[in-house]
Amino acid sequence: VTKIGVLTSGGDAPGMNAAIRAVVRTGIYNGLEVYGIMRGYNGMIEDDIFHMDNKSVANIIQRGGTILKTARSKEFMEAAGRQKAYENLRKRGIDGLVVIGGDGSFRGAQRFSNEFDIPCIGLPGTIDKDIAGTDYTIGFDTAVNTAVEAIDKIRDTADAHDRLFVVEVMGRDAGYIALHSGLATGAESVLIPETRTDVEDLISGLTEKEKRKKLVNLVVVAEGDEMGGGSEIGKILKNRLPNMDIRISILGHIQRGGAPSCQDRIIASRMGYHAVESLLSGRHNVMVGIVDDKMHYIPLDTAVKEKQAFTSDWLKIIKILAS
Ligand code: ATP
Repeated sequence: VTKIGVLTSGGDAPGMNAAIRAVVRTGIYNGLEVYGIMRGYNGMIEDDIFHMDNKSVANIIQRGGTILKTARSKEFMEAAGRQKAYENLRKRGIDGLVVIGGDGSFRGAQRFSNEFDIPCIGLPGTIDKDIAGTDYTIGFDTAVNTAVEAIDKIRDTADAHDRLFVVEVMGRDAGYIALHSGLATGAESVLIPETRTDVEDLISGLTEKEKRKKLVNLVVVAEGDEMGGGSEIGKILKNRLPNMDIRISILGHIQRGGAPSCQDRIIASRMGYHAVESLLSGRHNVMVGIVDDKMHYIPLDTAVKEKQAFTSDWLKIIKILAS
């Protein structure tokens, strides 16, 4: 490779900027020309591509969001869109691509790279942590820390009023943000999509604690929970437990923003560096992951097919610690 492009695609995640910075500076260090592609695959199709130098990524390691912006691109799902994208890369001689995004973005990269001869390297950038083959995804740690900070504040007011709060956190179809933030804030119960939600069990647990006057003020629900997230669970609990003062709080988009945590900056920097190393060493169509603190390369199609192994004893721990 001699010229590479970098883009961020799908949902934004804190730490994406640190990854962009690492790709740009490692590329330039190795004598490559680096191009920034705006708004995910849309920028490739619309030729919104610009030359980057070391200065283009100055002062961004600590910033949330992504300087390249991100988008979901309908046109890239069509063969005609991908053809256009390819022509815009070819015109500039771009012969390698780093895609920072989630599983959908990797599916796009995989398809593109099968059709045209452009090696693609994926970096897992998603707050949801719903990608196999890596212990970390860029943005997850920051999102969880934001959720924990917010839930701690909710607990203060819940405690002052003897209220029970049902807090919904993000995560799409994955329960990792809920699991981590729930364990870290001492939630009574955590409801996630990976396991069946037993409302009766939840209600009997709450009732039993009410009887022995143990104050319970927190249930954390993943947005993708099968019962329909925080509002639905809150409604059911209000109906079934009319004596309890129950409130619902949906944390929402604050979980996507903010300065990336130290961990997210570090993994983004390491992954960005290794994305360029991968392209230089002839690897292609792999995602760069970190497993047991070592770099790990897995085929893009495996990363999108498999889910992360689920740490099932966490729910048991949460239950025991809340007793
Ligand atoms: P997040 O997990 O944060 O939502 P994501 O990368 O999974 O991020 P998606 O919206 O699923 O987000 O995918 C991003 C973009 O990747 C899509 O808008 C589309 O342009 C492209 N893409 C996804 N799937 C395909 C596919 N099968 N073929 C071509 N392009 C695809």
